[in-house]
Amino acid sequence: MSLLVVGSVALDSVFTPFGETADALGGSAVYFSVAASLLHPVRVVGVVGDDYPIEALQLLAARGIDWSGVERARGESFRWKGKYSYDLQSRETLETRLGVFASFQPKLPAGWEQADYVFLGNIDPVLQLAVLEQIRRPRLVVCDTMNYWIKSQKPDLLKLLRKVDVLLVNDSEARELSGDWNIHRAGRWILSRGPKRLVVKQGEYGALMIEPDRTFYVPAYPLEEVFDPTGAGDAFAGGFLGYLARVRSMSASDMRRAMVYGSAMGGFAVQGFGLKGFEGLDAGTVERRVHAFVDLTHVPAAEPLP
Ligand code: AMP
Repeated sequence: MSLLVVGSVALDSVFTPFGETADALGGSAVYFSVAASLLHPVRVVGVVGDDYPIEALQLLAARGIDWSGVERARGESFRWKGKYSYDLQSRETLETRLGVFASFQPKLPAGWEQADYVFLGNIDPVLQLAVLEQIRRPRLVVCDTMNYWIKSQKPDLLKLLRKVDVLLVNDSEARELSGDWNIHRAGRWILSRGPKRLVVKQGEYGALMIEPDRTFYVPAYPLEEVFDPTGAGDAFAGGFLGYLARVRSMSASDMRRAMVYGSAMGGFAVQGFGLKGFEGLDAGTVERRVHAFVDLTHVPAAEPLP
């Protein structure tokens, strides 16, 4: 079973009330891979400019991340600048510079077209589609996007949606895409556009998995210290797909467990600036965190009222 991601490989400058970073390693593909590789090897497709500290990415290769699908092009790397509110609940994008992503034409390395599990990380939907079209028979395609692309590329995004199994977005994106403020109605609208499942991330309130006939909810792990929410969504996707690739199952129970692995990884992402929350983590630590969710969410079977 192989797991492939396409997404941004970025240099992030992030401001939070607790500190800031400048040109730090980031991007949807990077956060996804760092989280997913704790559970399953990952292959990454993307592009960086000639200003990217490629050695820093190579250090992460030891974790089971294969960067050979990341092209190095002449020009500037993708850069994103964002600022969080005091309660870390909302963020403002100060700047998005596509750089080499603007002219990127993805081409998978030989053999990668056999990918089984595919994550179309947040990037231009035209590029997401270009990668998907090169993959022969994926078992599961999960796709993320963000308001930037919903605003600028909605027709392409809707075309892509017809080909994905799971759309994974945050609640404001689901509302913006559907034009409906009610998240459950927004979910129904999105499911009518192609995906079989919709995962809605709700930050510190957890995440919903909306299916045509039922909805499942997983809370976020309760944390007293949160430093930087950047990448939490991609780390969630890494836990979700990394788990499914690891267990090679898409049963209803495993889909729910995948949500818990996603939530656990999202929690690690926010515990440190940039990728710091993942330093020193291993699969055992991830499993212990996942077990904590059993106690966090266990509801004893209802007894008749006395
Ligand atoms: P998340 O916090 O999970 O939504 O993801 C944050 C990451 O998304 C950052 O590391 C950014 O580099 C990356 N990012 C922000 N805007 C975009 C965009 N328009 N396209 C692709 N990646 C982006």
